[in-house]
Amino acid sequence: MAHAAHPPTGKPSPTGIDYAHTRQAEIRRAQKARLLASWCYDRGIGPGIGVADGAVQRVAARAAGVSPPHQNGAHSPPWTSVAHLLEQRALWDQRHERVPPPPAPCITCAVDPELCTRCRPLQLMLDDVADRVPQPERNSR
Ligand SMILES: [Zn+2]
Repeated sequence: MAHAAHPPTGKPSPTGIDYAHTRQAEIRRAQKARLLASWCYDRGIGPGIGVADGAVQRVAARAAGVSPPHQNGAHSPPWTSVAHLLEQRALWDQRHERVPPPPAPCITCAVDPELCTRCRPLQLMLDDVADRVPQPERNSR
């Protein structure tokens, strides 16, 4: 039962806990969260993104150039961190009297208007009405 030298592959320690890997994963998650938060911030997307629809979050992550963060329950989900960072940034802006980008009226539309089931039908309807109704000419009042 001779112990071979440990290969330098970052394999789990004999205790079964891979601290280095965990720490790296943590750093990667934090980097992702920061990237996502700054992408959202630039578009006026607030902490509400943390509880947005999963599809919206995934599209946002792809658009931000971040592979969508995993939401596997055990660890604190990256979107919670993103929301937290956005909250912190809003407070920082207040304290430093910085004017943040104008808040997006609709998070989904700010991410991708095509995804929005709330505004999209309304927009299509308004476009349709605008196409069919001529400019009002009569002065009925
Ligand atoms: Zn919308």
